[in-house]
Amino acid sequence: MKDKKICLLHTGGTIGMTRSERGYVPKEGYLGEMLLGISDLTVPGMPKYELHELSPLLDSSNMAVSEWNRIGGKIAELYDEYDGFVVLHGTDTMAYTASSLSFMLENLDKPVILTGSQIPLCEIRSDGRDNLITSMLIAAAGEVREVCLYFGGKLLRGNRATKMSADGLIAFDSPNLQPLAEAGINIRYLPTQKIKKSGEPFRFAPFSEVPIGVLKVFPGINFSLFNVVMTEKLKGVVLETFGAGNIPGEGGALLPIIKAAFSAGAVITVCSQCPQGTVSLGAYAASSELVEAGAVSGYDMTTEAAVAKLYYLFSKGYSKEVIKEKMETDIVGELTKSTAN
Ligand code: ASP
Repeated sequence: MKDKKICLLHTGGTIGMTRSERGYVPKEGYLGEMLLGISDLTVPGMPKYELHELSPLLDSSNMAVSEWNRIGGKIAELYDEYDGFVVLHGTDTMAYTASSLSFMLENLDKPVILTGSQIPLCEIRSDGRDNLITSMLIAAAGEVREVCLYFGGKLLRGNRATKMSADGLIAFDSPNLQPLAEAGINIRYLPTQKIKKSGEPFRFAPFSEVPIGVLKVFPGINFSLFNVVMTEKLKGVVLETFGAGNIPGEGGALLPIIKAAFSAGAVITVCSQCPQGTVSLGAYAASSELVEAGAVSGYDMTTEAAVAKLYYLFSKGYSKEVIKEKMETDIVGELTKSTAN
């Protein structure tokens, strides 16, 4: 372990925040001071590490495409120098960043573990200490060479993870894929769906600023109000539907809007509001017309993964037809295609 060298990439988030009059804020240089106080980081069983801090440090609610590109770009720049990467990140949008990195770090063959905490390291009872130390050990072990999220004892596939709790210390889960590892007395790696490795060299594929929208349906939704949003300017839409892909009114009011957006070039991906389970278009009349209108199934993808995947595929410059096909195909372990479709 001590021969392994880990890059700690600090992007912001609660783990390294300090108190201010306006609540917790990130502070440059502060995490480095905190780390000096954690004696476990220098015991013989720990890998060596170097801290890189992105500037400005951000509350993750302020992260978007340019920040994902900066994080991915930094990992690409340092790729050959380290055995693994631990990205310290705010919890609020960690699952979006993890999903984005899983696509943009093409042919990744090193561990990239995102982690953070619900309680800052500077406070008593901080969960940051274990999240950090265990993430570093997992990054050094190199058993799982993909983008993951470690939190509260569970190592999750990054593009399957979602934040489940605003205040619990086991804040993340991946309801459609069992954890990649569980950290109890020992760190136990579990057999799970593998990512197909292409054998091609690692490559960084940054995202472009593609106009993407997420539309969550609810009982009584007035679809006509969304006419103004669903214009040709919107390239990708994630439709968060009920259950297995159902929309109110058997599509009557929504279909013309979807059809218009589709013929204007948009790719509409149907995801479920249920955290667990899969979309199964056509299982009910309330969803079958979505397919005829040009929508594709997101199967069991999280909204976070579907959003990131749309950014990725549009940034690659693929045609609408190719993007439609790839949205329904597993690329980096983000989706399990149900056999019913
Ligand atoms: N607002 C914080 C962030 O996402 C929350 C956290 O880190 O837990 O940056």
